[in-house]
Amino acid sequence: MRATDLKQERIAIVGGGINGIMTAWALCDRGYSIDVYDRGDLMNETSAASSRMLHGGLRYLAKLRFHMVREALLERKWWRDKNTGMVREFLAHIPVRKGNLQELFIFGAGVMLYSILSLGSGFAHSRWVPLKSLRERFPELDTSNLIGAWGYTDAIMDDRGLGLWAANQLQNRGAKFFTNTPVAVMRSNGITLQSGEERPYDVVVNAAGPWAADLISASNIKSKNNIGLMLVRGSHLIIKRNLEQAVVLPHIDGRILFLLPWAPGEVIFGTTEARQESPNSAEISAAERSELIDAYNQWFTDTLGEADILSEYSGLRPIVKQDGGTSGASREAVIGMSGGVVTIYGGKWTTSRQLGRKTADAVEYLIKR
Ligand SMILES: Cc1cc2nc3c(=O)[nH]c(=O)nc-3n(C[C@H](O)[C@H](O)[C@H](O)COP(=O)(O)OP(=O)(O)OC[C@H]3O[C@@H](n4cnc5c(N)ncnc54)[C@H](O)[C@@H]3O)c2cc1C
Repeated sequence: MRATDLKQERIAIVGGGINGIMTAWALCDRGYSIDVYDRGDLMNETSAASSRMLHGGLRYLAKLRFHMVREALLERKWWRDKNTGMVREFLAHIPVRKGNLQELFIFGAGVMLYSILSLGSGFAHSRWVPLKSLRERFPELDTSNLIGAWGYTDAIMDDRGLGLWAANQLQNRGAKFFTNTPVAVMRSNGITLQSGEERPYDVVVNAAGPWAADLISASNIKSKNNIGLMLVRGSHLIIKRNLEQAVVLPHIDGRILFLLPWAPGEVIFGTTEARQESPNSAEISAAERSELIDAYNQWFTDTLGEADILSEYSGLRPIVKQDGGTSGASREAVIGMSGGVVTIYGGKWTTSRQLGRKTADAVEYLIKR
């Protein structure tokens, strides 16, 4: 971009997680001057505590959210094609139990639809994995009650590393980052730092993730349609195991758990779902740890114990609830606008670039209004 293409409006982004960084990316591309504020380090909260999957989200197919899944499946390609060395494709295996028609037909239809929605992304197609291959790939999986598995492809990423790579690209395009700089209040014409210093901006973007709703309240901004956030903690174990490919385990409550190959001798295993009120500090509980260990031991013959846990981490999913209740809770992101403030509620790591573009559209709407 030439200096003459630069626009005069100045925009502050509060939050240096992946949604703040990718919004900054979209706005830098459109020629705006961007300052990104984080109260801590960049990519140090939710965006570095994910399940590390660049994925379409197989389970959203059951909710008929085809557009959302398609968008995410295509976004995997964008991140993979950047060749950062931090994205790796894997084949995920969903075991199918004898006589379980739901696993055979519904999951089968799901992975085939996933493959169709992936068309154009260059990822390998879904397929049936016979029992013999399943045993060879996962010798410790208890296959006595299985007839095979459905396989589909997704990608695993270094979430923190990839986000820092994106931030680094922005620094080269002139974005400025202010870390360890908490924002106390957002206004239509700027922000007030916790130090009391006021800084003027034309538009402020609230990309504070799980803290977004608290920041709205602290700024005394009335959120339209009564949008709020419900925080759901998800915890992961990194266990001492070796896997070449991923395993997806149907869980007792209808959810699925993932075992993802991370590094030699290290597998990521998650995730749980536990409601939490405060956005501050997300830590795994003893009950979540037991839930994961028990689930592993129901499916594998090499008993997992606490001694096999190398490390643990948890993050908070900011899930949008509209009109006050939880019945409208959704994993889709919502962009709110009030005065000169644009707020991002929710979102997925995988689709952060598209969410960044939509947020940039909202910023430009406010500028041109
Ligand atoms: C357990 C779990 C697993 C997940 N797995 C996946 C997955 O596999 N794939 C996927 O696509 N998505 C996944 N997600 C979703 C994804 O991680 C999140 O949607 C995404 O990281 C949210 O990013 P964010 O930038 O909005 O929030 P954050 O990363 O939390 O960033 C918000 C930033 O705002 C800063 N901040 C807050 N308040 C202030 C303030 N007052 N002043 C200045 N800075 C402030 C914080 O310090 C923080 O850095 C998962 C989420 C969870 C919790």
